Amino acid sequence: MSNPETTEQSPRTNFIRRIIDQDIEAGKNGGKVATRFPPEPNGYLHIGHAKSICLNFEIAEDYHGHCNLRFDDTNPQKENIEFVEAIQNDVKWLGFDWGDEVLYASNYFDHLYGFAVELINKGLAYVCDQNAEEMRQSRGNLTTPGSDSPYRARSVEENLDLFERMSKGEFEDGSKVLRAKIDMASPNMNMRDPTLYRIRHGVIHHQTGSEWCLYPMYDFTHPISDALEGITHSLCTLEFEDHRPLYDWVLDNITIGAHPQQIEFSRLNLQYTVVSKRKLTQLVSEGHVHGWDDPRMPTIAGLRRRGFTPTSIRDFCDRIGISKADNSIDMGLLEDSIRDDLNINAARRMAVLNPLKVVITNYPEGEVEELSAPNHPQNEEMGRRVLPFGREVYIDRDDFMEVKPNKKFKRLVTDGEVRLRNSYIIRADEVIKDDAGEIIELRCSYDPETLGKNPADGRKVKGVIHWVSATHGIEAEVRLYDRLFNTPNPDKVEEGQTFLDNINPDSLVAIESCFIEPSLADAEVGRAFQFEREGYFCLDATPEGKPVWNRTVTLRDSWSNQ
Ligand code: ATP
Ligand code: MG
Repeated sequence: MSNPETTEQSPRTNFIRRIIDQDIEAGKNGGKVATRFPPEPNGYLHIGHAKSICLNFEIAEDYHGHCNLRFDDTNPQKENIEFVEAIQNDVKWLGFDWGDEVLYASNYFDHLYGFAVELINKGLAYVCDQNAEEMRQSRGNLTTPGSDSPYRARSVEENLDLFERMSKGEFEDGSKVLRAKIDMASPNMNMRDPTLYRIRHGVIHHQTGSEWCLYPMYDFTHPISDALEGITHSLCTLEFEDHRPLYDWVLDNITIGAHPQQIEFSRLNLQYTVVSKRKLTQLVSEGHVHGWDDPRMPTIAGLRRRGFTPTSIRDFCDRIGISKADNSIDMGLLEDSIRDDLNINAARRMAVLNPLKVVITNYPEGEVEELSAPNHPQNEEMGRRVLPFGREVYIDRDDFMEVKPNKKFKRLVTDGEVRLRNSYIIRADEVIKDDAGEIIELRCSYDPETLGKNPADGRKVKGVIHWVSATHGIEAEVRLYDRLFNTPNPDKVEEGQTFLDNINPDSLVAIESCFIEPSLADAEVGRAFQFEREGYFCLDATPEGKPVWNRTVTLRDSWSNQ
């Protein structure tokens, strides 16, 4: 799929870095670079946030600057401490360091209040009693200018008095707001006397408790927080482009010693999923998935549980690059990043997802051999593990056919031979079926002279299949994940439908009775392995009972041929 962002330029050079280079050259900000990542703690971080996190923290690293983690916490009804903690956890997990202190916009509520008073004193802000509906109507639209609020001409004294009383809790929610006095006829709707403060009684803010009943709006809070923190480049997504004049207006009209530069870049959209917190919240709250860290979710927590590594996510963000072009990224690109990482770094193991018992009739009963297998075919340094081998093993049902279906089929057939990976060559002698005619067991014989070598008589055995000792294998559940939505753009819906109608009902397939090799008994939660011929898998943090393994990704691109 063509992708404007990847074609733009190589990773780590982008238009934002070029602006920063020019600024440094011009001596702007004393040559300093400071950025911030400003999540609102109203949900878990998703892969789109990862793009912004990588951009901000990597710029700070590369330019020897600093990147703040600042919670944009001006909307306490939707925010909570669970999200505050999950976000910190995810940013850390991605490998970024914001230094000693987590910052909150709510740290600046006193300052913000002071700046609002300054604007009132300058005649640049007023208390407005219009209700939400009246405000909406008098705002006009893109073709019609708005009309002035009847409260716009209030005196400075009256505004100061009312604003103070608003802060003291004298007025009800929605009865009054503080607005900037800019221009009701501005072609930019954001400049038509935007609201700066609103009243919210009865909410307990996760940082400031019940200290305030007056909360500043994002557009007022953000530029001031940036300036107070000495941010030099305030990087945000394109939907804020139209807000930039307001960002600048706020800073131009208050007494504050800094004026950060807002620069916008395009959001990440990923095909076959959604990256809007509102929609992700809905998926969780309505039970379409099992929580924010459901391995099907495009959240950092979901990807982690699925087996993605920080390296793969950062690599993906490098690959997609930064530009102003709107785009939707192919899921295959994210899969490539994790595959490239795990191909090099994941140890190999064997697991039989769909077990068929094989009895090796010429193998002595009760005997067990400890075979040895490399953890990685190309990397000796990753060591070896022991593979117990005995008279009974499991192979995958798909690796046996009674009759060879075609020439390409190199696996096991009746009277045919195949090599058990890291082990011997076996021959299928007899098929045992149940009353219904279903194959329930194979009787095979092995060639004891073929461990690690070809048959002495020169006969060729091409197929190699994976297996697990039936006596030593661990029974496990394996969960196979598919795309969460059926269509590349789940938001594109027929009339009367919502994105939920595009949910893929088969996005999770659990296979309950698989067998994995015994060396996986002490696997670490979240660490991915390659199950040979099956894909990459990692252990889920299931509390008790049978271990659960999540498939991170298939071995080859599962998205391209659908
Ligand atoms: P959403 O639309 O999912 O609710 P948001 O912008 O409201 O996202 P915030 O918590 O405010 O979520 O986002 C924190 C930062 O992450 C912002 O700077 C925002 O621009 C950036 N960000 C959010 N979504 C994306 C995305 N899809 N791609 C790139 N950056 C994003
Ligand atoms: Mg936001």
